[in-house]
Amino acid sequence: PLRVRYAPSPTGHLHIGGARTALFDYLLARRHGGAFVVRFEDTDQTRHKESGIEDQLNGLRWLGLEWDESVDIGGPYGPYRQMERLDIYQTYLDQLLQNGHAYHCYCSEADLEQERAEQEASGEMGGYSGKCRHLTPEQVAAHQAEGRKPSTRFRVPADRMIEIEDKVREHVEFESNGIGDFIIARTDGIPTYNFAVIVDDHLMKINLVIRGEEHLSNTPRQILMYEALGLPIPDFAHLALILNPDRKKMSKRDESIIQFIEQYRELGYLPEAVVNFIALLGWSPGGEEEIFTKEELIAQFDLDRVSKSPAVFDMDKLNWMNNAYLKKAPLTRVVELSVPHLQKAGYIQGDLDEAAQDWITALVGLNQDRMRYAAEIVELSSIFFKDELVIDEEAAAVLKEEHVPVVLASFLTQVEQAEAFTVEAIPALLKQVQKDTGFKGKQLFMSIRSALTGQVHGPDLNVSLYLLGKEKVASRLRNLL
Ligand code: GLU
Repeated sequence: PLRVRYAPSPTGHLHIGGARTALFDYLLARRHGGAFVVRFEDTDQTRHKESGIEDQLNGLRWLGLEWDESVDIGGPYGPYRQMERLDIYQTYLDQLLQNGHAYHCYCSEADLEQERAEQEASGEMGGYSGKCRHLTPEQVAAHQAEGRKPSTRFRVPADRMIEIEDKVREHVEFESNGIGDFIIARTDGIPTYNFAVIVDDHLMKINLVIRGEEHLSNTPRQILMYEALGLPIPDFAHLALILNPDRKKMSKRDESIIQFIEQYRELGYLPEAVVNFIALLGWSPGGEEEIFTKEELIAQFDLDRVSKSPAVFDMDKLNWMNNAYLKKAPLTRVVELSVPHLQKAGYIQGDLDEAAQDWITALVGLNQDRMRYAAEIVELSSIFFKDELVIDEEAAAVLKEEHVPVVLASFLTQVEQAEAFTVEAIPALLKQVQKDTGFKGKQLFMSIRSALTGQVHGPDLNVSLYLLGKEKVASRLRNLL
């Protein structure tokens, strides 16, 4: 059975790139009845963040990418956190040392720095020189006497061609001569990523490794270690970069796009829309259709249709897509997403009674089709909350027309006399104004809309008037008159 894993370093929130890897893992695991493992690679303690594991899991959870094995639910091949597997790595490390595929290196940071400087000066860049490859017992003793602690390096064989049949990149090859002996365990004995990853992928029976292209150059190193340990080599699929809208490499500081899943949650995006969008970052099923449920993605997703070239992150497309999902979502759900934003803006407080619930439901309903994400409710509905009205240029022009005072005065009379000011009752009031003044159509509605919303265009007028409420409508009319 297929076994795939998402293996983040817990350095912070789930990033869009990691989310894509996890999604592709998930879709393939579900499609083929395999297992989706989430493993945490936390051996680089300098980059570690304490909340990193929870943050990553929360992101996956929100997207609905349920995993089969991880730190929280365990599984047959745990622990699923590298710092809890140190004794396991030690066994494999000893094996490599014993059969000569690895050796202790006593070079200090300063030694290595000097080596790099010399290499640069002579124009040859080959990585570590292999200075400690053949230390005599006397040299070792001397280093130890100085109190030096060794790191462990993998002995990279010379003149090897390492070939990869990548599921996305297809044939890729590397020459071993370009790879210097690399560190697999630091002086404190903690393994580095490249070494821990192969031990884990092997023991967790991972048979397909999906990850970002930035790891492609690690793959020949990992293959050499699999070979040195006599272990089977998994399949690989390296996903092309995600570019920002300017077609430049996405940097974590880039603000033209929203990069962390947590931010989408906070802004009131729908997880199924975000999943749909991310699925299309580098994959396409062919054909025109772009909207896919998770079930449809599971049924159709295939590495054969994952592109080798970079995907461009198009924020407008994401917003279009999220709007399409919001339009189809049940109103109650959109209300639930919107309320926290209205609260944060200070527009609503405390518990809502039934009338307030109805009012908010109407407010959100009025904007449901226009919202790109729920946080936009604040801006879209500010006219219903702010006391002073901002009248834009077009509306101001309308309000200068001759018939306007007549219409507004007549409407004010109707409003003041109205017993009910509900969505159902308002059309009759407008009808009465039409009868009393003789103005109808645009002359009637445009005047009232401009006077009360400050804009000539906008959502349904009856609902808008109801949402403003009798008091605000009357006082705005009086102010204008
Ligand atoms: N811990 C690595 C990362 O976060 C994972 C690389 C891999 O999937 O092998 O980039």
